[in-house]
Amino acid sequence: MLIAAYLAAYVALDHATNVFPAVAALAITPWNPPPGLSLALLLRTGTRNAPWLFVAALLTEFMLRGPHGGLPVMLVAAALPAVVYTGTAAVLVRRLRFNPDFTSLRDGVVFIGVAIVGSGAMAIAYVGWYVVTGELPGATYAFNALTYWIGDLIGIVVTTPLLLVASRRPRPQFARRPFEAVAQVAVIGAIVWVVFASGWAEELKLFYSIFLPLVWIAMRRGIEGTVIATTLIQVGMMVGMDVAGFAPGTALEFQMLLLTVALTGLILGLAVSERRQVERRLREREAELERGLRFAGASAMASALAHELNQPLAAIGSYVRACQLMLSDQGGAQEALRATMEKVMREVTRAAEVVRNLREFFGAGSSRREPLEAGRVIGAVLESARERLDHARVHVTTSWPPGLPRISASSAQIEIVLHNLVSNAMDALETTPPTNRRLDVSAAADGQGYVRISVTDNGPGVSMPGTADLFEPFATSKPEGMGLGLAISRSIVEGHGGRLWHEQRDRGASFTFTLPVAT
Ligand code: ADP
Repeated sequence: MLIAAYLAAYVALDHATNVFPAVAALAITPWNPPPGLSLALLLRTGTRNAPWLFVAALLTEFMLRGPHGGLPVMLVAAALPAVVYTGTAAVLVRRLRFNPDFTSLRDGVVFIGVAIVGSGAMAIAYVGWYVVTGELPGATYAFNALTYWIGDLIGIVVTTPLLLVASRRPRPQFARRPFEAVAQVAVIGAIVWVVFASGWAEELKLFYSIFLPLVWIAMRRGIEGTVIATTLIQVGMMVGMDVAGFAPGTALEFQMLLLTVALTGLILGLAVSERRQVERRLREREAELERGLRFAGASAMASALAHELNQPLAAIGSYVRACQLMLSDQGGAQEALRATMEKVMREVTRAAEVVRNLREFFGAGSSRREPLEAGRVIGAVLESARERLDHARVHVTTSWPPGLPRISASSAQIEIVLHNLVSNAMDALETTPPTNRRLDVSAAADGQGYVRISVTDNGPGVSMPGTADLFEPFATSKPEGMGLGLAISRSIVEGHGGRLWHEQRDRGASFTFTLPVAT
């Protein structure tokens, strides 16, 4: 079916384009699309269909040109295009990894280069063969070969890309923006009319204006539009030349125009298509990154929740276990049970608070701020850590001047920050002898509209390699640590317009953050 269509199209095209044959009997025409058809067939379906090129050429030799020069002469003449263009297709696909979908500028350039060489070899051999057999005069060999060469080359660079693009899977969209397409075709038609039929211009002098619609189409439609446009222009010119009755003497001049239009169209169309592809790939990549980022954000939030809820949940667990022990004990446990249940309630409230605040923090970006007394917030956090501090026998000191201005902050969020710093300090103090564990929390106005709050311990100090990374998520030196505490704390403090930093002491570590004074 495909082969039958190929043979029919080959003969029909050869017949139709026999306008202005420079050498009528041997079909040396200015525009010769059949080789383009042959190349498209081989590039799409593989070189195993090469014998059909021979059949097609033989058919046209017989049907269109009639017997000439004896059977052996015609057999060789028919074998030449089959051999040369099979070789051309093979070099393109096997050697140069040409992609028959015709999508990249590189493929376009490779294709044009190989087409120039292939059609040149064909012209030299074909015209040469007829000179050798005496069918053509040797004196005009160079001119005939040149005409034949450019004729085949135009046929290839117009027809092959059109067929390759049209036979892409999935099918290319030719019919986008139909009104614009009609306008584009109309402009091409109008220019061809002005050039050939209006009588306003001498010969081909106004023809350069055809580049305007060509550029327009290439910009808007890429290679898919340009292959159609160049075909339309070529056909329009053929018909125009025929109607206007141009002398065959102008054939070479005319060929060069056709060739220039075809090559410019191809390169321009491919450049535009390639740029669009690159843009599309970049957009896809960006969307991918965006997804990745969102996923990272979600997992960071999950880890943050886990981190923040770890402590209250562990506390709840041990309090409930304590309650069970007290219950099994019965006698006189009433009061202790009540106090412990109280603690359970406090931890549950804290856990709920953490969840609510984190959701607000990640969701709306900030939580409600209110004027707060720094001393109260510090007191509340130390109170909630009291048991652990007492148990580790940490000596806690606090200090802030009387009349310290109030800060503007979300108390739940600042509690999270302070709680983190205090709990990091307690972790650090584990290696310090129990008799000498000290923790100091102090606050002071910095005179520039901020209150500084510092948490200082006399532990071993920060021992992570490169202290600058401390505040990065997942930077931890603890086997069970998640490395999120400082990262979250910093983002909370910065969300309030303050700063959080670390200072190494000769013995221990100090973390300080600032918060704006409430106005
Ligand atoms: P995590 O506590 O989960 O490991 P953090 O972000 O809270 O994560 O802390 C990161 C690291 O900073 C800790 O693993 C620890 O090495 C170091 N660090 C933080 N605070 C102190 C401190 N007070 N003394 C010594 N090292 C500290």
